[in-house]
Amino acid sequence: MQKTTKLYALVKGKCPQCRRGDIFTGSLYGLDIQHTNSVCSHCSMRFEIEPGYFYAAMYVSYAMNVSEMITVGIATYVFSGGNLEFESLWLYLTTIFTGCLLLAPFNYRYSRVILLHWLSPKIKYNAYYDKP
Ligand SMILES: [Zn+2]
Repeated sequence: MQKTTKLYALVKGKCPQCRRGDIFTGSLYGLDIQHTNSVCSHCSMRFEIEPGYFYAAMYVSYAMNVSEMITVGIATYVFSGGNLEFESLWLYLTTIFTGCLLLAPFNYRYSRVILLHWLSPKIKYNAYYDKP
């Protein structure tokens, strides 16, 4: 039987313990709003391992937001021909704010995925649960 790869579990938002159950309900950019499941549907691992656990995802989300804002700002600078005059302030504010709004669902999902998969030493992958 083939094991699920960590990359697949990260990209698809799968449980860090079994890599089979979904962490989220709903799709990333669908009409159904995504929510975090309380327990894994496959191995019954509790995702919020202690009260307020997902507050730590705010720090991950913050780092993602800052890096995205800098990237969008640099892209705006490059694509506007290096325009840094005061009149172009609204151009930068609009592109950066729009980028933040469009990437908010992505940040919500992947800040929690990164927290669960990489920043939680208590949660370990267990091949025993990685069965269909
Ligand atoms: Zn699981």
